[in-house]
Amino acid sequence: MRVLAFLDGTLADPDAAHIRVDDLGLLRGDGIFETVLVADGVPRELGPHLDRLARSAAMLDLPEPDRAAWERVVRLVLDSWSGSAEFALKLVYTRGVEGDPASAPTAFALGMEIDEKVRRARAEGVAVVTLDRGIDPDYTERAPWLLLGAKSLSYAVNMAAVREAARRGADDVVFTAPGGTVLEGPTSNVIVARGRTLYTPPPSLGILKGTTQGSVFRGAERAGWATKVEPLEVADLRSADGLFLASSVRKLTRVHTLDGQPLPDSSAIHAELAEAYEAEYAG
Ligand code: PLP
Repeated sequence: MRVLAFLDGTLADPDAAHIRVDDLGLLRGDGIFETVLVADGVPRELGPHLDRLARSAAMLDLPEPDRAAWERVVRLVLDSWSGSAEFALKLVYTRGVEGDPASAPTAFALGMEIDEKVRRARAEGVAVVTLDRGIDPDYTERAPWLLLGAKSLSYAVNMAAVREAARRGADDVVFTAPGGTVLEGPTSNVIVARGRTLYTPPPSLGILKGTTQGSVFRGAERAGWATKVEPLEVADLRSADGLFLASSVRKLTRVHTLDGQPLPDSSAIHAELAEAYEAEYAG
């Protein structure tokens, strides 16, 4: 099941061709996106996702997204959806057609079923390798053209890192900075549990401010946990009581193996945190 709607409110056949071959999103990955989890008809963290879409657009000098129009198109996809109770909703916004100054951004919302692989990872956890992203965190401020912290469509590097993980017998990646500081996954944020405190690295390191990490922290605080946003080193991941990857569609996924070494069993902590996260959307 898939549902495609363009930002102007037109529903379209998701199996037909719609994007021009000279769209800059296609030619250069010049655009931005968001992936929202919809569960039981509710788009989770839609406000923070649209906030981040606006921040990414500003970083890429794209026209400011029309928030009301995005809210309407999300509603349209939700109302047209007849698939599983949980699905992924992609919001895509590109610079539009090359060489045409009058060209408007290409903008659409696409509802899609969730991959079986993601569901399995949620249930069973994942093996992760650390890979150097090769960019010093102080480039976030010094080199804004690197778009660190923007959710751009240029994910070829992120996907290459996931393939490298597979070559090393793992499922996913934690990127590090050249000095060994922990950054994020190619499509996720890193969360560490130590005692009754959760930690995640700060967005100032040039990583995405995660909507799921935000709601996990909110839920955990309500359940009596302390939370801290501060830099972590790889050694902190190894010595933690629990290591998790968080993103909209994978939710909170447990890491059971790091760089080939099994981590302590964090199933009970994972269950507690997953419940605290779900409680944010109950009732
Ligand atoms: N970091 C990166 C690079 C991502 O691509 C994503 C999501 O896809 C995240 C973090 C997690 O963000 P969110 O929880 O808002 O989905």
